[in-house]
Amino acid sequence: MNFEPVIGLEIHVQTKTKSKMFCGCSTDYFGSAPNTHTCPVCLGLPGSLPVPNRSAIDIALKVALALDCTINTESKFDRKNYFYPDLPKGYQISQYDQPIGEHGSIRFDVGTETVTAGITRVHQEEDTGKSIHANGETLLDYNKSGMPLVEIVTEPDLHSAAEVVALAKRLRQILRYLDASDADMEKGQMRIEPNISLRKKGSSGLPDYKVEVKNIGSISVLEKVITKEIARQAALLETGETPRQETRGLVDMTGKTVTQRVKETANDYRYFPEPDIPPMMFDPTKIDETRTSLPERPQDKKDRYRSELGLEGDIAETIIADHQTARFFESAVSSEKNPTVITEIAKWYVGEFMKLKKEHSTEKVKPEILRELVHLLEKKIITRTVAKDVLARSFVTGQSPAKIVEIDGLAVASEGTQLDEAIEKVIKDNPKAVEDVKKNPNAVMFLVGQVMKETKGQADAASVRELLERKLSGQS
Ligand SMILES: [Zn+2]
Repeated sequence: MNFEPVIGLEIHVQTKTKSKMFCGCSTDYFGSAPNTHTCPVCLGLPGSLPVPNRSAIDIALKVALALDCTINTESKFDRKNYFYPDLPKGYQISQYDQPIGEHGSIRFDVGTETVTAGITRVHQEEDTGKSIHANGETLLDYNKSGMPLVEIVTEPDLHSAAEVVALAKRLRQILRYLDASDADMEKGQMRIEPNISLRKKGSSGLPDYKVEVKNIGSISVLEKVITKEIARQAALLETGETPRQETRGLVDMTGKTVTQRVKETANDYRYFPEPDIPPMMFDPTKIDETRTSLPERPQDKKDRYRSELGLEGDIAETIIADHQTARFFESAVSSEKNPTVITEIAKWYVGEFMKLKKEHSTEKVKPEILRELVHLLEKKIITRTVAKDVLARSFVTGQSPAKIVEIDGLAVASEGTQLDEAIEKVIKDNPKAVEDVKKNPNAVMFLVGQVMKETKGQADAASVRELLERKLSGQS
């Protein structure tokens, strides 16, 4: 392909507040009967007055700061005028020229590479209601009307489906780390609208058209949409045709889209300042305080795990998946100075531990059990085989690994009599294998296996081999 995709995203996020953006209606409407969470304000009845939700604005400020935006100390709401049945007022309260935050950025990893994309703006607005088309009729549910929405707009800095997916995932993580939103896409709490165009490879500048795809509620569908749209546009461009500037809508979950409307000119929303809400002033001290109160962001965490703790990228990525997972790990390695122990803990955590987590509840598990387990391994008190078993038991019972090892006598069988006896027995029981070793030294591995079986995995394979070889060559 001789073309390079140029992609920007508009992302709508329902933020986590108790009441709606401009009224006291509860936001907990999911699963409720239609139109049960409404009032004159969110139904847009004449004469009703909006009162901004302070905690929604605090959350929007956090999101803007976590995306490294410059905060407008003076910000205001504007009316975005358009008609749609699910927008009863005939306008949406949004922000136009003074959004809460502008000129930010987001970092995320694509494979082993770290990419930075610009964030154009972060602004506060309200959600619309929902139109339900059924049996030739359109029904309206206004429960969603007036839900607090934060809109995040990226620069057209993305150049592949992989970058889009990685950004969307990282952003969703940030929102969850901040507790700004559950960002549950199945519940419509995070919706993504990509705009996609192609330019000749090697050229810079923006193409003179772009295609927007509305309301995608799943990252895997988003990936399919981008891939299909790139292919569709490339095929047109190959024949010398410029794709139409248009808005497309999703047909089904395969990522197929169709033309919704062709834009001849830019939409004229006749924005003007919302006369019912005074401008918002953000005190610089409050901005600084909010910035310092933010939790460490997932990408920063990942970078730190790699540079300070020496973790591999994919292991670090698994650990930062969510706040709780990262916190558990940090607690397991806190006060641990030995770098080998730290990387071992990380490996056990993303490996055996997470496997167990899928099968059992984690209520009884304390982070210290991982550190204790790895210490037992490092001091060669137990073998890896035994460690797996001990971890599984510790996971279920909450008992300390050291205790389990002590009570059940699981410590490594070393050169003591127990191991000696096992080796003697194996040599006696396997005369043919002993003969084989004389011809082929590697045949000793069979005997090592037999000894491991005899000691139920408690012996250390390397020392068993050494002892066997010594015995067989008559040195001991
Ligand atoms: Zn209401």
